[in-house]
Amino acid sequence: MFRAIVLEQKPDKSTAASLRELDESALPAVEFGGVDVDVVASSLNYKDGLAISGKSPVVRKWPMVPGIDFAGVVRASSHAEWEPGDRVILNGWGVGEGHWGGLAQKARVNGDWLVRLPEPLDPFDAMAIGTAGYTAMLCLMALEKRGVAPGAGEILVTGASGGVGSYAVALLARAGYRVVASTGKAAEADYLRELGAAEVLPRETFAAPGKPLQKERWAGVIDSVGSHTLANACASTRYGGTVAACGLAQGMDLPLTVAPFILRSVALIGVDSVMATRARRVQAWERLARAVDASLVGAVARRIGLAEAIEVAPTILGGSVRGRIVVDVNR
Ligand code: NDP
Repeated sequence: MFRAIVLEQKPDKSTAASLRELDESALPAVEFGGVDVDVVASSLNYKDGLAISGKSPVVRKWPMVPGIDFAGVVRASSHAEWEPGDRVILNGWGVGEGHWGGLAQKARVNGDWLVRLPEPLDPFDAMAIGTAGYTAMLCLMALEKRGVAPGAGEILVTGASGGVGSYAVALLARAGYRVVASTGKAAEADYLRELGAAEVLPRETFAAPGKPLQKERWAGVIDSVGSHTLANACASTRYGGTVAACGLAQGMDLPLTVAPFILRSVALIGVDSVMATRARRVQAWERLARAVDASLVGAVARRIGLAEAIEVAPTILGGSVRGRIVVDVNR
């Protein structure tokens, strides 16, 4: 038997979440290359907030165990790459949406979806980073690929006190960039400076409709907010600059003109973590293992037990949660 959070769809299409004891035979079948994992830690991401609250149609199969990421230890494997005792991480691949996810003591997944947990991270560190930190690293890699180097100028991070934002600030600062953080939480300015932000701006600077072209300031942007914020960020990016867009905390719309692209050669790069190639995942996690230390994990993450996740997950959607929430599935 194992404990899991289970989501069910009620007749009125709302979502009911409960903590259950399940038999291992309930774990979903994996056609080939299946790996059984004893989950050690999972985490709460924005998407988990949507799934558990039922606020957005994130869940595609019912019943569903939510949790888009987890870290743990392989218990049984029919996949050539994995054997019992291996320490693994999973991010995305539709886990927690179309396939049972990490908010459980056990998971059964396709071995192709797993990445080896790099030293010196432990499963709790890995989930303190989680999908948010891994996505922030993919965004940083997207900026680098376009030649945005530390000396190139200031980098704007929006939604800075959130999970993606916190890691974007810290990873950029540790790589030598000058980071300007935009946040709706004035009280978190010191937190953001501690992570490495050189300057903190209020969220309102970017949140309302703005001009198609604004004063050029950013050499690069990491945006997890979308909507007017992303539009204003593009409009104030310097000639030849790069904007990495990965989120929609303000909204899914993008009310902007082509002016930044055709007059300033600005590049808007989409970053998806869910279906990213294995090679990029491995590269991102190896870099995270080198860049993230205990002090960063301690500053960004707090730990809760599995049962608490049901109540805490929806609070992420209000934008009031700082940093990351790690779920100890055995607590
Ligand atoms: P969090 O909730 O931790 O962070 C989101 C942050 O956005 C908030 O903390 C807040 O930061 C800011 N925010 C919230 N509401 C608003 C608003 N109305 N207007 C402007 N800013 C707002 O979520 P995550 O960091 O986990 O995820 C952030 C986004 O990135 C989500 O949309 C998520 O779905 C997406 N994402 C995408 C991935 C991908 O693969 N593309 C992977 C992971 C996440 P502050 O108060 O500091 O402004």
